[in-house]
Amino acid sequence: CQGADLTQTRSGLLSEIKTPIKTEPFNEHYSLIPGKELGRGKFAVVKKYVEKQTGKEYAAKFMRKRRKGQDCRLEIIHEIAVLELATASPWVINLHQVYETANEMILVLEYAAGGEIFHQCVAEREEAFREADVKRLMRQILEGVAFLHRSSVVHLDLKPQNILLTSEDPLGDIKIVDFGLSRMVSSSQELREIMGTPEYVAPEILNYEPISTATDMWSIGVLAYVMLTGTSPFLGDDKQETFLNISQINISYTEEELEGLEPSAIQFMKSLLIKEPQARATAEACLQHPWLQQPTEGKEERKEATEGEPNSPASPPPRRRKRRRRKA
Ligand code: ADP
Ligand code: MG
Repeated sequence: CQGADLTQTRSGLLSEIKTPIKTEPFNEHYSLIPGKELGRGKFAVVKKYVEKQTGKEYAAKFMRKRRKGQDCRLEIIHEIAVLELATASPWVINLHQVYETANEMILVLEYAAGGEIFHQCVAEREEAFREADVKRLMRQILEGVAFLHRSSVVHLDLKPQNILLTSEDPLGDIKIVDFGLSRMVSSSQELREIMGTPEYVAPEILNYEPISTATDMWSIGVLAYVMLTGTSPFLGDDKQETFLNISQINISYTEEELEGLEPSAIQFMKSLLIKEPQARATAEACLQHPWLQQPTEGKEERKEATEGEPNSPASPPPRRRKRRRRKA
């Protein structure tokens, strides 16, 4: 629920769902797994539960129906509808069941045990992604996003906190979550101004220009940069500076963090971080990009590994370089 934005954007919402909404007490069927909650946003909290009947683990997303005095049930129904539409993609989180209480809707989601890729993005050398990891995960993200775009869905909030992993070690597969800002773009009506997270937001959003599938492709460009370097390309000291950096495409491809990457990785990001939405590569085109065609093993990393530890070929290759910590 985006407050004042809503009158503009309601047109992009789906309103029909197939999943039955259960009204019996949630706790009769699920037990909370004690420990830290899995995540929390402004209006949602996500906790780990086990389904009593099957013993299977799930992530339950508790969503308040009233936010800032507004009824947001329709937005939640839309989020459910998009998850239903995307069940055919292995890269989008699966929806198991839906419960409704007086104040909340509970989305029972497939549990992604590896957590957010955000952790590897901000991690230091040892735990950060290698370029080979990023290539494999980026292919999956692009396949997921291509599926959504073929279905006329734009996610509009693609960022490391909304890309989860099935497992962390060994590094599993990705699952796209959080369709809270997503919209349908098929309707003839123009869609404008759905604010995402400052750092990942495309120039057309800042300029109140029409939103399209290309808006997601901008965020994928930022995502690639963050996954490869651990630094956020447009992040300024405050929101204003970040927005200025975005609208001026004030980005550096010569940072220390980018040294040692395959040159095609830079080309990949450059094909997305373009002001004109029409000029950006589509998800399908990205999947054909040379960067993602090459075998996933980086030669840099292999070389370092052999030089560093000639007698232990089984040890994992070292990370490219020490990463700067990125502001959360
Ligand atoms: P919000 O709209 O509040 O951002 P999200 O759907 O993004 O809600 O969920 C918030 C956080 O909860 C995510 O960033 C992630 O850390 C965690 N989370 C969400 N869904 C799952 C899941 N299926 N498995 C594991 N963790 C999850
Ligand atoms: Mg989120």
